Amino acid sequence: MCGIVGYIGNQEAVPILLKGLKKLEYRGYDSAGIAVQGKMGLVVRKAKGLIKNLEEKISAESKNADEFCGFAGIGHTRWATHGEPSDVNSHPQTDASGKIAVVHNGIIENHGKLKEWLLSKGVTFQSETDTEAVANLIGFYYRGDLLQAVMEAVGRLEGSWGLGIICADEPDRIIAVRKESPLVVGIGKGENLIASDVPALLEYTREVYYLEDREIAVLFKDHVDFYSDEGQVIQKEKTHIEWDAASAEKGGYEHFMLKEIHEQPKALTDTLRPRLTAADTGGARKINLDEIGFDASWAQASRVVITACGTAWHAGVIGKYAFEHFARIPVDVDVASEFRYRDPILNPKDIFIIISQSGETADTLAAMRMAKKGGARIIAITNVVGSTLAREADLVMYTWAGPEIAVASTKAFTTQLMCLNLIALQFGVLRGVIKSAQLNEYINALEAIPAQAEKILKGKENIQRFASQQFNKGKVFFMGRLFDYAASLESALKLKEISYTHSEAFAAGELKHGPIALVDTSTLVVALCTQSKLFDKMESSITQVKARGAAVAVITYEDSDRFNNIADEVFRIPRTDDSLSPILSVIPAQLFAYYCAVQRGLDPDKPRNLAKSVTVE
Ligand code: GLU
Repeated sequence: MCGIVGYIGNQEAVPILLKGLKKLEYRGYDSAGIAVQGKMGLVVRKAKGLIKNLEEKISAESKNADEFCGFAGIGHTRWATHGEPSDVNSHPQTDASGKIAVVHNGIIENHGKLKEWLLSKGVTFQSETDTEAVANLIGFYYRGDLLQAVMEAVGRLEGSWGLGIICADEPDRIIAVRKESPLVVGIGKGENLIASDVPALLEYTREVYYLEDREIAVLFKDHVDFYSDEGQVIQKEKTHIEWDAASAEKGGYEHFMLKEIHEQPKALTDTLRPRLTAADTGGARKINLDEIGFDASWAQASRVVITACGTAWHAGVIGKYAFEHFARIPVDVDVASEFRYRDPILNPKDIFIIISQSGETADTLAAMRMAKKGGARIIAITNVVGSTLAREADLVMYTWAGPEIAVASTKAFTTQLMCLNLIALQFGVLRGVIKSAQLNEYINALEAIPAQAEKILKGKENIQRFASQQFNKGKVFFMGRLFDYAASLESALKLKEISYTHSEAFAAGELKHGPIALVDTSTLVVALCTQSKLFDKMESSITQVKARGAAVAVITYEDSDRFNNIADEVFRIPRTDDSLSPILSVIPAQLFAYYCAVQRGLDPDKPRNLAKSVTVE
């Protein structure tokens, strides 16, 4: 999920790799490393923390100039998913012989099984990463032909990967292969490069080949060969990069926020898929949370308390509805800054679910510590491996969203929802509320979500057009019932955070208890309508705000024409189970907030007065 660079040519590789890694620093990372093929064979240097630490390590550990130099090498900045950020878990990872080095972006879902199998063959491991299984697998299959070994090893991988591979016995080449994680091959003069992102290449070339899923590139200094996963030579078309350095960083998107909104299908897949048993193994599908140590004892809880701040708290509100619905267990959801100063009643049979993108949110950590003191057990949901929250909780379920740069959270939020749904469903199964056939249906619905999210993103021009008409509205209200109310909270927050529009959310049933006093012709009301059993109630709320002159936009299912005649605008999302709808219904709202901010001439990535990680009270 982070950065890969590779170089082969006539120049010293290490300075080029370091420079390339620095060009990818903007993405965020937790450690860095380089492997170089030189006079001393294959040499690896890696360090936790900033690239500066790696540079210091290189100069401290390389006593003579020849020790860490050569004309071919691979480099990596890591965003840990498996194993804490540490020197040994950093990439490149090597096979047990030390002759093969691998850099990897992504997640190897079957790394546990592969490791077990390799251990049974006597292969040894040193790190906690999923990546080391790849290095060892290639090493296991290596019989003097790196390409052949890579094909055999990759054939056994499940999950997502962008891989750069070098081998001490074949120093004239670098191999690159990918699945669901980007890799670009840059063509220079007497030199060739790989990178996970274009910015790392721009200084050397603008001529690139985009590697497609399962294609393999073998780079020599003066040419590159491409192969299919079966070893057939393939011809590829070169692309000329027109982007300047700034838009290259954003993958061609105008802002990180828009890029991250578009990364949601992949982030949701990465977060979901490793937690499900495979579809092709036969028998009933299951949720598998063994990896986080979640066993039946957790489902004995008498109450679940969800605690978080901001967007993560909104995920918690949706989580409450999900837990009650799927697992029939009492749930409280608390703003962390309130919880920590209240006099809450704690019980050792409580389970706390603590949510924080960064894992460093000050109020959230304080709430967790308080709950721990009260004897409760803690499940953390966070995006940052090795964060304080991850270290101090009893169990951690990572959102595998990759680094999030824009201040306003998007992909971290929807992946938090994915985690909460998985835990809630598993609670439901263990408590006997959900039967196997029902679980199958929910799993199918969850698996459909990434493609459904993609479909919503394809219709973004519609939302852009609407935002261009509405961006100057004095007030915008979001309303809904049940899951739609919870999703409204997050929708209103997104809009106020980045476009500075006065926006509020309320439960549609509360309309008459106050908010309707504010509704007039200057108001836009966005009604979220995905709770089928309450469509009549929503229709009546919409009629009431329309009667006061408000403009109304509805977000509802694509197969429902129920609101066509009363709404000024209808945004459609694909049909899903009503209790899973927030993951989808929030996407049009994210896009609306984004386009309103852009229309107002604001920078959505850096909203005024807000910080990405709130580490102070
Ligand atoms: N899953 C790998 C690890 O944790 C790669 C992480 C990345 O994409 O940076 O080591």
